[in-house]
Amino acid sequence: MQPHASRVLEVDSPGYFGRFGGRFVAETLIAPLDELVLAMVNIVDTHAFQAEWRSLLLHYVGRPTPLTETARLAKAIDPSGKSLSRLFLKREDLCHTGAHKINNALGQVLLATKMGKTRIVAETGAGQHGVATATACAMLGLPCIVYMGEEDVGRQAPNVGRMKLLGAEVRSVTAGSRTLKDAMNEAIRDWVSNVATTHYCIGSAAGPHPYPELVARFQSVIGDEAKLQSETQLGNLPDALIACVGGGSNAIGLFRTFLSYESIAIFGVEASGQGIETNHHAATLTKGRIGVLHGSKSYVLCDEQGQITEAHSISAGLDYPGVGPEHAALKESKRVTYLSTTDDEALAAVSQAARSEGIILALETAHAFARIGDVARSCASERGRAVNVLVSCSGRGDKDLTTLLSRLLP
Ligand SMILES: *Cc1c(COP(=O)(O)O)cnc(C)c1O
Repeated sequence: MQPHASRVLEVDSPGYFGRFGGRFVAETLIAPLDELVLAMVNIVDTHAFQAEWRSLLLHYVGRPTPLTETARLAKAIDPSGKSLSRLFLKREDLCHTGAHKINNALGQVLLATKMGKTRIVAETGAGQHGVATATACAMLGLPCIVYMGEEDVGRQAPNVGRMKLLGAEVRSVTAGSRTLKDAMNEAIRDWVSNVATTHYCIGSAAGPHPYPELVARFQSVIGDEAKLQSETQLGNLPDALIACVGGGSNAIGLFRTFLSYESIAIFGVEASGQGIETNHHAATLTKGRIGVLHGSKSYVLCDEQGQITEAHSISAGLDYPGVGPEHAALKESKRVTYLSTTDDEALAAVSQAARSEGIILALETAHAFARIGDVARSCASERGRAVNVLVSCSGRGDKDLTTLLSRLLP
């Protein structure tokens, strides 16, 4: 397959994806954001930085992660084999710390050391980004402060313990809905007050320019590997890609490499919680409006007055009322189709993958898996043949064990 020039990747002006992105921040943050833009060019893009980062990915994270073909799960999803031909999982669950987030955390903390920063702050929802950042800080020798909503501190207790063991200070945030968006506000507040010494390590492809670009670049290792592995193992590129979307970092990390191949159908999956028609969901792209959250313009969940509303999902990592601006642009250009999965469907997908493949998925990840059958059916009917699907297996479910046991084995 030949890549075609894609308009999707063109930004109208620096820091924008179509009309989304930009910088909606206090004056005090403009200079540090500019410093980060310069660092992307003068540090991240250099051979020396890339070599050091790639070496960490190889020897510490355990990359490249495998591309696993799952014949039994494919058969369980489509017993007839008429729509789903071959199913491949990009195994980010096998990364050190159990999810894709370490790719970005190591990249950013390494960058911070090169920028002369001596302190890292981060926010976390599921606790996965907090663990990844605390891990990177321990490994590279920087102090780490992680802001986490009180609600999430409760439901992700094992990850709080991990962060503390790793030497990080976990600050519980009691404002607002006491989840990810409130933790993000506190982390930004800390950064504003300590900007000379501190790097703010954002965990998803969201936030003000240049964060969405920086995070997407670090996570693009997922798609770059998956493309080479598909060529070797499948002899071709897949017909369709699927990834779950919280802020959107595992999804954009997988998608970017493939966006210019127009014959590849690409699907992002959001959390529709208790149902898209209820007020208890996190389906920002499906049900949200255009607005500003955490420094960039994208889709957000808000009320008639434009006040940000609370998101709900059984998975803490998808429970966020915003989404990265590149996904908003990809939705608008229709290059990527965004679907959603309910809490119950995600739980069923965990059960199915566990029994038919021996893989216990993170609840976030299971949202992507729940749509494999639908995606295969729609792509197969368009193409008149069974299709090959590649899914981002963004993380493992150990952190969700309490929820999984209480809901699946009551
Ligand atoms: C955090 C997390 C997500 C959601 O974050 P994205 O930035 O959208 O990738 C998905 N899966 C797992 C396992 C996570 O930990």
